[in-house]
Amino acid sequence: MDGESVRLLIEAAKKARERAYAPYSRFYVGAAALGEDGVIYAGCNVENSSYGLSCCAERNAIFRGVAAGCRKFEAVAIVGSADDTMPCGACRQVMAEFGVSYVVATRADGAYRVLALEDLLPFAFTLQEETE
Ligand SMILES: [Zn+2]
Repeated sequence: MDGESVRLLIEAAKKARERAYAPYSRFYVGAAALGEDGVIYAGCNVENSSYGLSCCAERNAIFRGVAAGCRKFEAVAIVGSADDTMPCGACRQVMAEFGVSYVVATRADGAYRVLALEDLLPFAFTLQEETE
């Protein structure tokens, strides 16, 4: 990933984070997914008083892209309030489903790491027919 793409993704994730709906955890997260169509799809976490209904920023960003017709994404950037905000297991699996190659994980101090999804989720689940 080139530096300019990373910068644009982090910027979009930061902007989305401002709209996060997290009145329960107060853990505000923004994410931005770069689609293979070149479009950046941003999302924020959206919580619910019935906690299990909450959805992470990363999935909301990807689902927004899917709803727009995109089926493959190069990278997803995440901006949160933790020292080191990383995607949860469910989001990693959704990233695998839609071909995400890289995760741009940001730190509170502004630093970031570009990580390969296959390192974050080796042996991701895929639905394959039995071939016996
Ligand atoms: Zn998640």
